[in-house]
Amino acid sequence: MLVGILALQGAVEPHAAKLSKLGIESRLVKQSKDLIGLKGIILPGGESSTMLHLLKLRGLCDDLKTFVHEKPCWGLCAGAILMAKEVKSPTQDSLKCLDIGIIRNAYGRQNESFVSNLKPSLDWIDQEPLEGVFIRAPKISWTTSPVKTLFSFEDEPVMVQEGNKLASTFHPELSESNKLHQYFVKLCQETA
Ligand code: GLN
Repeated sequence: MLVGILALQGAVEPHAAKLSKLGIESRLVKQSKDLIGLKGIILPGGESSTMLHLLKLRGLCDDLKTFVHEKPCWGLCAGAILMAKEVKSPTQDSLKCLDIGIIRNAYGRQNESFVSNLKPSLDWIDQEPLEGVFIRAPKISWTTSPVKTLFSFEDEPVMVQEGNKLASTFHPELSESNKLHQYFVKLCQETA
């Protein structure tokens, strides 16, 4: 099974390393033809405005939009911003494949980045706390049914799921646990 990682900018390599630890082959996606044959895609953290600019510049935006509306997709931080239906602070275009609103940089600047334990919801597979690394993270401002919250921080959702779409506002690729990558791989296998 081949899983793609959008590789225009941002934290790409740590996801390839996580997938490889799970025995999953990954492909770096830089142009439309790289999407062919993928079972799912990870949109990594980075800078969403830069990614959006590069997506448009490379003519990849429409094909990626079609792909993420159909196939499993996991957006992290900037990637979650790319998936959201509504982006604020400032308003920004997006792929609109997930029924959430998101506010960019809502937890502050780079030097206000932090690590904290996250609370799993009853929709998650176990009840162990999970480490969350937040770097210039956005906040999920609203969700609509059937979006489920999987993890929260200070009673606000930080990881959500809608069918085969996942979005998290933190960086599990920087923590030791492989649990979330495993969960996404399972989603890809189930959809395949
Ligand atoms: N602040 C970034 C943005 O708005 C996201 C930060 C991140 O991905 N760690 O795109």
